[in-house]
Amino acid sequence: PPAVELSGVGRTYPGGVTALQDVDLLIHRGELAAILGPSGSGKSTMLNLLGTLDRPTTGSVRIDGCDVSAMSDRELSALRAASIGFVFQQFHLSPGRSATENVADGLLYTGTRRRERLRRSAEALHRVGLGHRLDHAPHELSGGERQRVAIARAVVGEPVLLLADEPTGNLDSVSGASILELLVRLNAAGTTVLVITHDSGVARQLPRRIEIRDGRLVSDSAVPERVGSR
Ligand code: ADP
Ligand code: ADP
Repeated sequence: PPAVELSGVGRTYPGGVTALQDVDLLIHRGELAAILGPSGSGKSTMLNLLGTLDRPTTGSVRIDGCDVSAMSDRELSALRAASIGFVFQQFHLSPGRSATENVADGLLYTGTRRRERLRRSAEALHRVGLGHRLDHAPHELSGGERQRVAIARAVVGEPVLLLADEPTGNLDSVSGASILELLVRLNAAGTTVLVITHDSGVARQLPRRIEIRDGRLVSDSAVPERVGSR
């Protein structure tokens, strides 16, 4: 199945704000795409739907073929643990714990034994270029290194989909560029990656750009006929 299939998706919040409307979107396995939009355009709402942290009020969201609306909260937690990795602007690492322990958290709900979790975490840290920082705590690492730890945590379980929310937003331009390069490299190795950003400079570096504005998908570089429909 495709990694993501949105069909007629809308999300209206209690109180009446429609944050997303009529969104159709297909992301195949192996793609690397940006979801680009200004503040208030619906990016966080989109991220919450793609991450199965929220359900649409209209239409359907399928992640790796699973229809989110048809699933219980417990089933969604299991889907998230098995299939989705998250990376955030603020890293969200646990302070005072080593890089390896932080990455091992990415396998907590997968039924993997602790010893195996730590082994795979060290391996994931090597994959993101931090093989020499296994025992360092977040405060001993640079911003770019912290984000690499967060990325290792997101991919250690080999998710179908990696969702990165403004992954370079808290980094200087040099570290930001190397984080984007890392995402490109992980994608080349098979991970489907979606970068959610307001930064067109970031989006421009990715092979597919999907733009949302006022809750609507207004352009998609993979679907040229949509351009101009705004
Ligand atoms: P972005 O992440 O692009 O800034 P959001 O998805 O956060 O966009 O917001 C889109 C619109 O939905 C905005 O008008 C915002 O105020 C509104 N919104 C977002 N979350 C909620 C919520 N939980 N309750 C009510 N309105 C919300
Ligand atoms: P960011 O741009 O840093 O992602 P947002 O402004 O999009 O921050 O929203 C942060 C959180 O607040 C999200 O969980 C979003 O759903 C919620 N939120 C945004 N706008 C509103 C709103 N008008 N009412 C209630 N919650 C909101």
